[in-house]
Amino acid sequence: DRKVVFITGCSSGIGLSLAVRLASNPDKTYKVYATMRNLAKKERLLECVKGLHKDTLDILQMDVTDQQSILDARDRVVEKRVDILVCNAGVGLMGPLEIQSLDSMRCILEVNLLGTIQTIQAFLPEMKVQGQGRILVTGSTGGLHGLPFNEVYCASKFAIEGACESLAVLLQHFNIHVSLIECGPVNTDFLVNLQKAELGDTSLQQVDTQTLSMYEKYLQHCGSVFQNAAQDTEDIVKVFLDSIQSPSPAFRYFTSGSMPPLTKLKITEPDGLQYIRAMSKHIFSAEEQ
Ligand code: NAD
Repeated sequence: DRKVVFITGCSSGIGLSLAVRLASNPDKTYKVYATMRNLAKKERLLECVKGLHKDTLDILQMDVTDQQSILDARDRVVEKRVDILVCNAGVGLMGPLEIQSLDSMRCILEVNLLGTIQTIQAFLPEMKVQGQGRILVTGSTGGLHGLPFNEVYCASKFAIEGACESLAVLLQHFNIHVSLIECGPVNTDFLVNLQKAELGDTSLQQVDTQTLSMYEKYLQHCGSVFQNAAQDTEDIVKVFLDSIQSPSPAFRYFTSGSMPPLTKLKITEPDGLQYIRAMSKHIFSAEEQ
């Protein structure tokens, strides 16, 4: 029997690549429901699968912040079951905390946190009845350690860790495996799609000069990290496949192969100061390249 896969956030980036890879499987092992908030953006996905998708891909509209749209998408799954649920939709928010509006903060939490949880809620009862299932969530190293100017994004991704770990403890008793795929920087539209304060923005005029100059440093750091160390979505998809194909998947996968050294510091030095100092040094004392 084909595995029914349901993925959120497939108009670009990791979600798109994963949908393409699974739908193009030569053995037709997977039936993919690729969902996206805005169906007008489906051309990119369709171009990538180039006609191979006839019976392995369905594209559905779904906004993870809209419960009715989640239920409507779920009800359009012909097989009436989902074997592998991939919660991938997410957005970033970057800039000094004091300029973030309540609306923009709420929006990030609604997509990244409640969007993920609402999606899982919609599929959970059926998976429990089936007595089997996989839930994969696109995590972030920003869910494992704090990053300056990303407070609310990190809060949303830390929260996902808590939700998933809590669920995993219960769901192992239902033969449902939860896996977080922890990504560092990935070459996607993420940096374009995120809400980011730009240096010339009027909102930044109210911010003190020390914060501003540190923000400038952070943006340079971020730019060089993405330029030098970002992974391609293909690399990320391989890790998703590792988890999907494993008979007993791990709870956490690191797309870079292992836990990043700075994240390890949080575990080995539980008072937290070593991490805070090391990350600060890493970002703010780097020599210009
Ligand atoms: P991306 O911007 O290309 O993809 C994100 C997708 O989520 C987009 O297709 C977007 O339309 C969709 N989305 C946003 N709001 C939505 C909503 N309300 N309903 C449905 N879909 C919605 O970026 P990406 O890098 O592919 O991001 C995928 C996931 O990877 C996100 O959860 C992100 O936090 C995570 N991640 C990305 C990076 C990175 O560096 N790119 C690093 C760590 C984690």
